[in-house]
Amino acid sequence: MDATLTTDLAADLQTQGCAVCDHLATRASDFFAQWQYALYADEKTRDEYAAGPGLCPLHLWQLEGVSSSIGVAVGQAPLVERIARALEQAAAVPSDRVTVESLVPKADDCRVCRLLRAAETDYLGRLAASVGGRQGKEHYARSHGLCLRHLAQLVMTVPENETAVFLLGAVARHFKKIGGDMCGYATKTEALRRELYTADDHDAVLRALTHLAGSRRVCSP
Ligand SMILES: [Zn+2]
Ligand SMILES: [Zn+2]
Repeated sequence: MDATLTTDLAADLQTQGCAVCDHLATRASDFFAQWQYALYADEKTRDEYAAGPGLCPLHLWQLEGVSSSIGVAVGQAPLVERIARALEQAAAVPSDRVTVESLVPKADDCRVCRLLRAAETDYLGRLAASVGGRQGKEHYARSHGLCLRHLAQLVMTVPENETAVFLLGAVARHFKKIGGDMCGYATKTEALRRELYTADDHDAVLRALTHLAGSRRVCSP
């Protein structure tokens, strides 16, 4: 095995979706599992969160999805109260229209977005080193590849043109295969020949959307 093709990368590439998206979804889910409890149980974590800008809409709703309602109430109350105080002060100053805008979290403000961006860069760096080697290429060629967004980032990360060409050839084959599976699914469905479905026909639409848009667990505008 190439020194750079680690066991975890090799296992990750067996996914039918995008290995990078899946890795980021796991990192986010691990973070939320620990942090939603800390927000509820630890005053220091809560105060530090309340003093900051908060989370982006996607990650605030994902946090809500893994929290109990009392966890959300306890964890978010200090932030909501800080915002109430800031708005109260703004309302007391005639013509202050700036404060409210400053309370809206910006793209770089969300700690989960920042954590995932760092994890994404690290993972793509490891994947780029892996596909630079012969065994990494062989393994990648047998995988379902990445979503378009992560493929574009990987192509820009690999140093050698030869590896970029390899990646583009592989993704062209992946998309051709998915397109063929979707047409097969549509044709057999319209002809009422569901008994002819293959396993690949069944999940063709899900694979197509995942490879076009990335996993729904990590996608954001
Ligand atoms: Zn992806
Ligand atoms: Zn975010």
